[in-house]
Amino acid sequence: MYRCSACGAFNRVAEGHTGEPICGRCKRPLDTSGAPQAVNAEALARAAASSPVPVVVDVWAPWCPPCRAVSPVLDQIAKERRGKVVVLKVNSDESPLPHLGIQAIPTFLIYKGGREIDRKSGALPKHLLDAWIAESAAAG
Ligand SMILES: [Zn+2]
Repeated sequence: MYRCSACGAFNRVAEGHTGEPICGRCKRPLDTSGAPQAVNAEALARAAASSPVPVVVDVWAPWCPPCRAVSPVLDQIAKERRGKVVVLKVNSDESPLPHLGIQAIPTFLIYKGGREIDRKSGALPKHLLDAWIAESAAAG
């Protein structure tokens, strides 16, 4: 399942699909690389509420060295798990999330079935972050 970065719609793309996938709603090209997508608070809320697959959110800020360190790690994980999870990034300077009560950054949140099922703060090595995402995505 892939989120359209243009309109936010979720699209199913058949395995072995050839040609460039197009979003069913807005007809724009659909990014199926699995790469994290930058969203604001409103787009995050809509995606978390409507995604058919688990949503992993990276709440980060440009001035935060651990955020910058973990960013390429999350990027790799997102691409490896493409289609199975949707990875979003919220720049907390540009789009504050006071309603989420985030105490530290980076904070990772996992949404499933429209609700937050887990969160974790701090940069993690790839195998730990990936294992946490896999466990959380399978639970709940
Ligand atoms: Zn679209």
